[in-house]
Amino acid sequence: MRKDRHIWYPFAQQKLASEPVFLTHGKGAWLYDDQGNRYLDAISSWWTNLHGHAHPYLAEAAKKQFDTLEHVIFAGFTHAPAEALAERLLGKIPAMQKVFFSDNGSTSVEVGIKMALQYWDNSGKPKKQLIALEGAYHGDTFGSMSVSGRDAFTRPFRQHLFDTTYLPFPDDDNRTEVLQAMEEACASGDVAAFIFEPLVQGASGMRMYEAEMLDRLLSIASQHKVLCIADEVMTGFHRTGTFLATDQCMHDPDIICLSKGITGGSLPLAVTLCRQEIYDAFYSDDKMKALWHGHSYTGNPLACAIANASMDLLESAETQTAIHRIISQHQAFAEELLQQETIENIRQTGTIIAWDIVVEDEGYFSSIRNSLYDKALEQGVLLRPLGNTLYIMPPYCCSAAELTAMHNAGRLISSL
Ligand code: PMP
Repeated sequence: MRKDRHIWYPFAQQKLASEPVFLTHGKGAWLYDDQGNRYLDAISSWWTNLHGHAHPYLAEAAKKQFDTLEHVIFAGFTHAPAEALAERLLGKIPAMQKVFFSDNGSTSVEVGIKMALQYWDNSGKPKKQLIALEGAYHGDTFGSMSVSGRDAFTRPFRQHLFDTTYLPFPDDDNRTEVLQAMEEACASGDVAAFIFEPLVQGASGMRMYEAEMLDRLLSIASQHKVLCIADEVMTGFHRTGTFLATDQCMHDPDIICLSKGITGGSLPLAVTLCRQEIYDAFYSDDKMKALWHGHSYTGNPLACAIANASMDLLESAETQTAIHRIISQHQAFAEELLQQETIENIRQTGTIIAWDIVVEDEGYFSSIRNSLYDKALEQGVLLRPLGNTLYIMPPYCCSAAELTAMHNAGRLISSL
């Protein structure tokens, strides 16, 4: 990384990072740089993009909205794009009755945690403990870091993070142990909430677990009156096949966090949804019972207008067919990967497929990571390995041929 650059880029040791690729534009599943190269966006630009870059329908919605009302304080005022989006989301998620707006995934989690803690406080039964899964990643703000795994990302701040009880990450061999740990943790009676990434833990390496297991954890939580916070920031908007990952469970969460795909990956926006009962615990003549939380760009009309347009596209027969096609193309690719000796742990949930390269130094800081990344770019594909884990999470607009090109690049760099 050149020293004279003015920008401090995220998620990288600046001294060791290579020069960022200078993009000029994007179109569909493709990104174009100033050297005449193009790259297939096989990771949907940090799991945000659903319909492709510079989508004309989303651009049109943004232009129309900008000409009408680009932004307004969201206290004492409201507007059609936010009202329509809230109604639309609640229509798709019947267990939820209220929508709280914010502007990024971490903050949606922060709000979820605050809702849960204050729910108990407002109800006159304050509870302080939170339960999470080992290896979780819920964001980079202090509350969301506190319920995330204790790892390199959170280490420097460890003395400032609140205590969380971690359950082992569920796998085929530890089911009884996980359920028992959940029972024991809940039994204290002091647990405010259980927070989880449903079905797929993203940042910790696309680790996947069964809906049935999650359902049993949700069931234990509800028996002990522990609120369940589903962090669907990555998994929402059909990434796991269903609209939400928790749609695959019988038990519903109490609070749901959404962001990333909400605007089709074009503008920052997030929501935290909750049940009526939670909202009711804040609804009072007592001002101290209000949720004193908000951000300058809360409920931004441009972002909400694009989110509504993105929902139009998402619900279209074309996108729904594409999602099914991506899932079955992934399934066929997973079969092919089985033949390859250099890889292991091939796994898929909906439109997300992941596998691990066999190495000595597994994990996020695996030394193979940078060469995998560079080799993929050389193949014209943006893959962003999580250490020795490679995954493909394509935008739904990608054609069968484009997805095959992503698969081919993934397979090729896994064998080099
Ligand atoms: N929760 C999950 C499950 C995530 O994957 C992420 C981001 N990768 C976040 C929360 C944080 O979202 P943001 O980066 O928008 O703050």
